[in-house]
Amino acid sequence: SDTFPEGLQEFLHQLNDDMHAAADWGTPAGYIPELAAVDPAQFAISVAMADGRTISAGQHDKRFSIQSVSKVFTLAAALGRIGDALWARVGREPSGTAFNSIALLEQERGRPRNPFINAGAIVTTDALLDGRQPRDALAELIQFIRAAAEDSDIHIDKHVAASEEATGHRNAALAHYLYSFDNLQNDPDLTLGTYMHQCAIAMTTDQLASAGRMLSGLEGAPRLISARRARRINALMMTCGHYDGSGDFAYRVGLPGKSGVGGGILMIAPGKASIAVWSPGLNHYGNSKAGTEAAHRLANFTGWSVFGT
Ligand code: GLU
Repeated sequence: SDTFPEGLQEFLHQLNDDMHAAADWGTPAGYIPELAAVDPAQFAISVAMADGRTISAGQHDKRFSIQSVSKVFTLAAALGRIGDALWARVGREPSGTAFNSIALLEQERGRPRNPFINAGAIVTTDALLDGRQPRDALAELIQFIRAAAEDSDIHIDKHVAASEEATGHRNAALAHYLYSFDNLQNDPDLTLGTYMHQCAIAMTTDQLASAGRMLSGLEGAPRLISARRARRINALMMTCGHYDGSGDFAYRVGLPGKSGVGGGILMIAPGKASIAVWSPGLNHYGNSKAGTEAAHRLANFTGWSVFGT
């Protein structure tokens, strides 16, 4: 379909008003100083159709740190580069653990459960890096996202990257631990730096919704990956995109989605639309609190859950 649901614009404005009235924002991520300093009382939502038209409400022109939402694009780009060989190095099962967990890695001999937990995303980043300089791999990734969004004004926020590099001891531990199992092919510190810069990409909800169209299966959306690959990435987003909260997100929203600790969520309604929501306060799983609530209400309003209306 290439038409927005009847009444969607009014609904999104009401949603924005409701989120501000409820003021149930949660707490911004505390472990990255630049993110901890963000005012939690902010909200934006954008819905994009195949041709890139968006309907939005709230602060939809404001750039935020997409953080782990980037892992969707990195996965798509890494699969484009090395293909299904990636799956020898990373699994496709939900982890049932926190985004930054190290516990399962020892048990599973350094093969992370899925590409969306930090350990798995570090391996995916390593595959994309593939012996190149970090700036070359990052340039490829940024170009990929710009092509998906059909918008060249998308960049890495250097302050956020530096902030994470100064405090990212757990991710450093994950990278070196993966290296010890021979599951990184580049210098672990180069892979780690690339990973942290990719997480520091800043986008608006309009840009993010627009970039997600490549996964929507919509006729006329940028065709950067095959339909089959898009379908499979959507499956991983549904089962693993919200870390240990993935089951609850499927239950409440029923759309493939990927969250980030910057408070962004990208959601795909296959054959219908691509949706981005942002609110920086997080729930106890580390997913946007108001963003998840808004996604739940949007799914009810549109009937877009893949599990039925
Ligand atoms: N850069 C963050 C980290 O690696 C991303 C986590 C997230 O967004 O879930 O800890």
